[in-house]
Amino acid sequence: MSSDLENKCPNCNSSAVNETVLTDTFLYGSPDCVVPLTVTEIVMTCADCKEAWSDWRGEEARDEVVKRYRKAFTKPLIYIDTQKLLDIAEGLEELGKLDSAQTVRETAADSSVTQTDGD
Ligand SMILES: [Zn+2]
Repeated sequence: MSSDLENKCPNCNSSAVNETVLTDTFLYGSPDCVVPLTVTEIVMTCADCKEAWSDWRGEEARDEVVKRYRKAFTKPLIYIDTQKLLDIAEGLEELGKLDSAQTVRETAADSSVTQTDGD
């Protein structure tokens, strides 16, 4: 059942190592926008000394989750178009949805402020 390529415990050098698939949550983002991301990763535990650790596979799994998150969230930001938002607001006003129109106008105002501040 065991092979010579088995993991060895970094703490006690035992080869009684178990691999467990765990779901973990970690925080990602900038200080003003932190999101919890969930990752499924392989964690090794030593049956002899109870040491637990993860290897490159854990890091790779986290990298993949972060990449997926960034892909999903950078797109809408790139495509914020103030004029388009104002057009939408106008359409909402015509439909009598004044509250929604106001919200869209505020979003447009915000995005035009952040867009002018490019360095
Ligand atoms: Zn150990």
